[in-house]
This record gives sequence, structure tokens and C-alpha cells, in this order.
Amino acid sequence: MCLRIRPWEWYVSGGVAVTGLLELWLRDFNDVPFFWVILFWLSVLRIYIYGLGQLWRMLTGKDMQKAGKEHDELVNSFHAKIKNDIEMFGRNFLKDKTIDDYKKSHPESFKGRRFIACHECGGRSVWVKQMGSTRYGIHNQHICRTCGVALWRSNL
Ligand SMILES: [Zn+2]
Repeated sequence: MCLRIRPWEWYVSGGVAVTGLLELWLRDFNDVPFFWVILFWLSVLRIYIYGLGQLWRMLTGKDMQKAGKEHDELVNSFHAKIKNDIEMFGRNFLKDKTIDDYKKSHPESFKGRRFIACHECGGRSVWVKQMGSTRYGIHNQHICRTCGVALWRSNL
């Protein structure tokens, strides 16, 4: 939405400037070829009409409506993305991270069904951190209280 100066307008402007300088140099400023003068004022008129067009668009709020529409689309797509992210987070929260998966990869941490020690530091104490909640439940991360390593996950 900016005024583009067309090539022929550059030529006209250049022509006017050069002719004007020549006339000035020859000390006779009244004989600038009439053709150039008309073209020059046509350019000015075009810029002026462009300004009126801008004013009209502003008064009718056309650009505002367009901007509002674009903004709405932006917000909607952002909202959809967040919603999808939450859905994926909830759905995949337990993937390969349940206590059974942990037991499989660290059998030495268990005695029968009972957890006995963190695989990293041997700590026995576990605390539960809430990671958020979705329609799949409240998502918990079980963490070693001694070294802070993530152990397994569960949903409530
Ligand atoms: Zn630990």
C-alpha cells in the first residue's frame, strides 16, 4: 500500500529537470516545452488522486476490515495450533514412559513390583510433579528426589 513511481514518471521528472536546467542556463525560463509541463502536472495529479483514494479507503474503513479479517485468521490458526498441541501432549504423555516401560529398561531398580532405587543415584525417594492436565487426565512426572532425574510418568 505504497505509492509506486512508474518508470515513465521517472523519465518525465528527469526530462522536466533537465529541460528546466537548460532553460535556466540559457536565461530564458518561459520556454520550457509545454509538453513536459503537462506531463509533469499529470504526474502530480496522479499522486493527488492516489491521496484522495487513500482518504476514501480510510473513510470507508476498507483496509481496516481487511486487516481485521487477517488478524482473525491469525488468531484462529494460532488457537487451533495450541489446541492441537495440548491434545498431542495429553495423548502422547505416557508413550514409552510408563512405570512398566521404566521397569523394562531398569529392572535393577525394582524388587518384584516394588521400586527400590533410582537407576542414576540409588536414591529411594520419589516425588511427583504435575505437568498439566488435559482431557486424558492429570499428567504426573515421577522424579528422583535426590538427583532429579525423570523416572516414569503416570496419569491420574
Ligand atoms: Zn536419582
